[in-house]
Amino acid sequence: MDKYGKFCWTKKLGDMHLSGKNITLCGKPMLGNNYSDIRKDVPMCKECESQANREIVRDAVKEAEMTVEQAVTKFHWCCAAIVKEAYINNAKALNYCGPYAKLGLTFDSIALVKAQVPYVLDNMTHWRGDLAKKVRKYLKEVTHALRNY
Ligand SMILES: [Zn+2]
Repeated sequence: MDKYGKFCWTKKLGDMHLSGKNITLCGKPMLGNNYSDIRKDVPMCKECESQANREIVRDAVKEAEMTVEQAVTKFHWCCAAIVKEAYINNAKALNYCGPYAKLGLTFDSIALVKAQVPYVLDNMTHWRGDLAKKVRKYLKEVTHALRNY
């Protein structure tokens, strides 16, 4: 296994490849002996590597893909998290963001939610920590999900 979680395929000579099903990601047949356990410090085939990276991006996009209803729900979740931090935990970094999030919680229309996301994001730039990271990630997914509306 390599850093992409894929089976490695290395011939006696040449680069290390990554396995698809019966062929390498770059399209070479996987015939004969595999030397990946012996030839460990071999550079990775560029085509296999870029193919593996494309798969990662594809999976990430698929994961972020959601219905409009899910996007609105996710937006409300973010607003609720911000409201809680701003008004219950008194996070100073959310002084300006709090009211935008509070208002956002009342929005059910896609157009209003879509319009509100940038205000929320723009006013939480000083907010730090794991929750902040998560909310930022979710709001970007919401933006992506609502891009065509
Ligand atoms: Zn390859």
